[in-house]
Amino acid sequence: MYMEFQDLIKREDYIQNLLKEKKDGKLSSSNLFICKDDAFNEILLQLVARLILCKNDICGTCENCSKIIAGTHPDVKTYPKNQTKLLVADSNEIVQESYVKPIYADSKIFIINNIDSSTEESQNKLLKILEEPPKNVYFLLGAKVIDNVLPTIRSRCNKIEIGSNNKEIINSIFPNRDLKTNLALSVSEGYLGKTKQFIEKKNFEEICNFAISVLTELKSSKEVLPYSKKMYELRNDYSLVMFVLGLALEDLLKIVCGREDLVKLEMFKEKLEKVKDEYSERALIEISKLIPKVDEKIKFNVQPQMIFDNFLLSLLEVKFICK
Ligand SMILES: [Zn+2]
Repeated sequence: MYMEFQDLIKREDYIQNLLKEKKDGKLSSSNLFICKDDAFNEILLQLVARLILCKNDICGTCENCSKIIAGTHPDVKTYPKNQTKLLVADSNEIVQESYVKPIYADSKIFIINNIDSSTEESQNKLLKILEEPPKNVYFLLGAKVIDNVLPTIRSRCNKIEIGSNNKEIINSIFPNRDLKTNLALSVSEGYLGKTKQFIEKKNFEEICNFAISVLTELKSSKEVLPYSKKMYELRNDYSLVMFVLGLALEDLLKIVCGREDLVKLEMFKEKLEKVKDEYSERALIEISKLIPKVDEKIKFNVQPQMIFDNFLLSLLEVKFICK
């Protein structure tokens, strides 16, 4: 699916523009790709690295393409090293490495994923090199939220903004829509990278079903225990549980307001409709406000089990108070 995926992105206008710029020798050395879908960004950045090094229009089979796809190309370096955010040490390494000549290809490429999640200090360290990169060195930066990228970085880069993927691509990638694919597509709101991530996630359906059951099956404080236990079991995925719960709350609000036609989680519509009389508009809005609070608390490492207990109890409380 991965190759197929890259082949389809190849046809998009922004890739065709980059190809043209390469042919005209006008390719910018510092490029910033902005897309809400970070999983998509990672795939895209790798594709652009191939675009720069491949001599036959991103063929997929030459040595440069194969090595990049396998993640073993000696001249294509991917950051952050710890997979989550760029550290100052990463930035220092990038600056140093960029002055070392390429070994295999004729250019060197630095892929920097999620630049927007790094600190100001790590970003600052890159300013000079982005402005005056050594010859034949390219920087490919990916960001979800442009506001979290320093304006000074933004102004030094060629910016390419990408929206959610078009229907044609989605349809050709997922011709057979099974339940899991449909669910993944609706939770990812049409973003391809995320969809792929969800489909590959073993317990994705379990997570979604659980999130929905919190709204549709949990009725009283006496029943909280098994739910908070389950939530604890899924603690590594709690942010996804919360995300789906947030989507379900939005959908429920649409149903309560008589706009069933706008519901995103189509497959749960029936279940949500059954409980619409249990929630007032106000309750749904107040419950949504509880979600970011869980996030904050988890960050401070307070006991997760207790946080989940409190969350579920508050949800029920709000539901009854705002009846
Ligand atoms: Zn190639």
